[in-house]
Amino acid sequence: MPKDFLKGAKDEYDVVVIGSGLGGLTSANILARQGHSVLLLEHHYQLGGMATWFKRRGGHIFDISLHGFPIGMIKSCRKYWTQDIADSIVQLKGVRFENPQFSVRTTFDRKDFTEILTGKFGVPLENVDGFFTQARGMNFYDDQQTTTGELFEEYFPGRDDVVRLLMEPITYANGSTLEDPAITYGIVFSNFMSKGVYTFQGGTDALVGKMKAEMIRNGVDVRIRTLVEKIEVSPDRRVQAVVVNGRRIKCRAVVSNANLKTTILKMTGAEHFDKQFVEDAEAVRLNSSSCQVYMGLKPGASLDRSVGDLLFHSEHNGFDIEAILSKNVSSRTFSFYYPDTRPGSDRSLIVSSTNANYKDWAELPEDDYQAAKTDLQETTLNCLEQYVPDIRTKLDHIEVATPRTFEHYTKHIAGSSFGTKFEGLQVSKDLPQQVGGLFHAGSVGIIMSGWLGAVNYGVIVSNDVDKFLTPSAATI
Ligand SMILES: Cc1cc2nc3c(=O)[nH]c(=O)nc-3n(C[C@H](O)[C@H](O)[C@H](O)COP(=O)(O)OP(=O)(O)OC[C@H]3O[C@@H](n4cnc5c(N)ncnc54)[C@H](O)[C@@H]3O)c2cc1C
Repeated sequence: MPKDFLKGAKDEYDVVVIGSGLGGLTSANILARQGHSVLLLEHHYQLGGMATWFKRRGGHIFDISLHGFPIGMIKSCRKYWTQDIADSIVQLKGVRFENPQFSVRTTFDRKDFTEILTGKFGVPLENVDGFFTQARGMNFYDDQQTTTGELFEEYFPGRDDVVRLLMEPITYANGSTLEDPAITYGIVFSNFMSKGVYTFQGGTDALVGKMKAEMIRNGVDVRIRTLVEKIEVSPDRRVQAVVVNGRRIKCRAVVSNANLKTTILKMTGAEHFDKQFVEDAEAVRLNSSSCQVYMGLKPGASLDRSVGDLLFHSEHNGFDIEAILSKNVSSRTFSFYYPDTRPGSDRSLIVSSTNANYKDWAELPEDDYQAAKTDLQETTLNCLEQYVPDIRTKLDHIEVATPRTFEHYTKHIAGSSFGTKFEGLQVSKDLPQQVGGLFHAGSVGIIMSGWLGAVNYGVIVSNDVDKFLTPSAATI
């Protein structure tokens, strides 16, 4: 008999949360804290979505997306999770850029960037200040027509070296490009720039373990290996139930942390929405996907700390999104994990990440796919030898993930790593007006993507769900 992963689950809950990415986890936790009965369903065998990890023989633990997030995570984790989780967040001080245009090390905060831009790049202080002030002042209700490229042109005309310094890290964190609305850049960049880049000491496994324990303490019914097939809607357009692993479970509200388009067009079905809304949902563009190369060093083999924590490497001239996404990789972000990432461990790890086009990988026949993975592995090692000359002798384990891997594990259409482009946010926000009790809390609109964006969107949506379930409830 196959194992019943829903054994003991009730037939009815106030809320079903579909997916355990950081947005889904946060919504589930808050809603349970507010006193609602919550069922969290995750199709994978572990929680976290993109915020996840995997283990390999020899004691290696690789983090997928723990490269860096803004300081705001400390406040969000303290308020909506626990003090203990917030206390494990530490700054990454060694952010480094190496490319044909410049070699820069930075603590990634406004003061340091101002010194670099005025001192090394020779940009007048008033332009730097003007740019930071405008970026910081941006919010969702601002002009959405100006593009990020136009914003840069206003303050740094013709300076593609400056654009690269300011843009590359954000592109790696959320897939955005110069064509996206400037407000998406302004909001995300200002979050990062406020006080640098942070990480979670203990690794993603420790973080998600603590989140799981907290959810269980608050009464969330957490189920892994449970794939939601359908969200059932009544003829008067209200959420009624979900169908999961062949079982129907009733609920008054659903928070879907799954891909926005899948939620609307597949799990719920276009017939339950207005025609215009369906057209808007269909028109939402997905963000790009990723490739990663995971490298585990032999037990005790160390890395020279001067190599940095986060290294933005490129062989390309200028900021070029096509080159960044190309299968002929010329730009990589290396994350160096020293043993103190997981205190008590003697392991050093390196993860190389590149943004990628799904179609470059999806259509490859199996033999070509395997060959392309081997090629990526080899070219990554060749590149890394510039920074860690003896990497090949220190290496114990290496493997590659592609857009297909991300699609497989997270069910995101086209393996999208960073949700949707900007227009996805409006569609996500409008969902409950179409179907009573149907909410979406997952990476959308660029600003609600990344670790901090996903957590904060989970908070916003859980407050809306609370109001729907108990209309007299005050917001938290
Ligand atoms: C390679 C890479 C590097 C990244 N680097 C950074 C970084 O440095 N900094 C940063 O801030 N962010 C980074 N990110 C982005 C960040 O990890 C994500 O934006 C964030 O974790 C997404 O959270 P989410 O809530 O949108 O859910 P997701 O992580 O997308 O999770 C959705 C969950 O829903 C589940 N699911 C889907 N369909 C179903 C279904 N039908 N039934 C049940 N479960 C379902 C999936 O299995 C998954 O667990 C990176 C992402 C990638 C891929």
